[in-house]
Amino acid sequence: MIIDTQGIIHDLGPNDELSSKYANSTFSEIIDCSGKSVIPGLVDAHTHAVFSGDRIHEFIMKLEGKTYLDIHKAGGGIYFTVNHTRESSEQELLDLLLERLDRMGKLGTTTVEIKSGYGLTKESEAKMLKVIKMAKKKTTMDLIANYCGAHSVPKGMNQDEATDEIIKNHIPFLKDLMDKGEIDPEFIDVFAEVGVFEFENTKKILLAGKTIGLKGNFHGDEIGFVDSGKLGFEAGSTAISHLENLNDEGIKLMAEAKIVAVLLPTTQHLLNLNLPPVRKMIQEGVIVALGSDFNPNAYCYSMGLTMNLACVNYKMTPNESLVAGTLNAAASIDRSKNVGSLEKGKFADFIIINAKRWEHIIYQFGDIPIWRVYKKGVKI
Ligand code: ZN
Repeated sequence: MIIDTQGIIHDLGPNDELSSKYANSTFSEIIDCSGKSVIPGLVDAHTHAVFSGDRIHEFIMKLEGKTYLDIHKAGGGIYFTVNHTRESSEQELLDLLLERLDRMGKLGTTTVEIKSGYGLTKESEAKMLKVIKMAKKKTTMDLIANYCGAHSVPKGMNQDEATDEIIKNHIPFLKDLMDKGEIDPEFIDVFAEVGVFEFENTKKILLAGKTIGLKGNFHGDEIGFVDSGKLGFEAGSTAISHLENLNDEGIKLMAEAKIVAVLLPTTQHLLNLNLPPVRKMIQEGVIVALGSDFNPNAYCYSMGLTMNLACVNYKMTPNESLVAGTLNAAASIDRSKNVGSLEKGKFADFIIINAKRWEHIIYQFGDIPIWRVYKKGVKI
């Protein structure tokens, strides 16, 4: 692989071919990958990486057999994180995010989708989006912001009121900040779930997002069934995450509209959710991607572990998990023209694995044998 000074892949091919073709060229650096393997930088299609207030106490309560209601009574769940995130300054949230990105980078992730969603008021959602924009100046990784003000119904409101609040107050507020260059979300997310934001409300929010240029990339059919395939189809969405309870019609519609399915096997494992219909999706031609779902409930930075769970629990082949954790994940955030595969003209985002077979990043799932990680040709 030949990389130019801008960090773009200039050429690719077998060693012998490239050696003779570039015999008269000089290079600032040559990396000898003998005995190693190289794959594209991993793309994490779904994270909630901006928050403060981890939930270790809640994890232990769950292990002790406490119910959702017990945890709720003890002040746990999403509102615990919402309260902490609201109280934290931009700087505190930025420091936490940068430390997390650093750990993700060491595990081979070079492009990350990051959602807001632990503010729930327009001001605190905007604060989270500002933090993502600030982080872009401090990291070489590509960060893609997804506004998720409809992550949960705020206390004291019902879902209709929360929907109105987002459409009438959040959306114009965000548009103003986008025009001023303070935030730069590209997507809009909704937690589409029975008893949270259901079909009609989710659709209204997604369509309102479209009016300010935000593309739909939302949570659907995780615990219950809200017909998210049809929802994404009707709202013209780019991607839908979770999909544990997607039905056959939804699979067909997602394949037809090329809506990317972002599967999150870490959360499925932790919450013991239904298995999504992965094989059917792949057979019907749905674009299947993977995300770590890094959040206070599923505290996982590792796409290697995510790929391991996709292979073991979802019965994906290693090659399917690789394309899902790279090129298809890039498609879910509209980045497949730049990242997700090693091709001429794309960013030189790649990881060098300290093993002859790349599958070692799935096989050695506790401590991934990564030798080096490069973003746009620069070692990170
Ligand atoms: Zn999520």
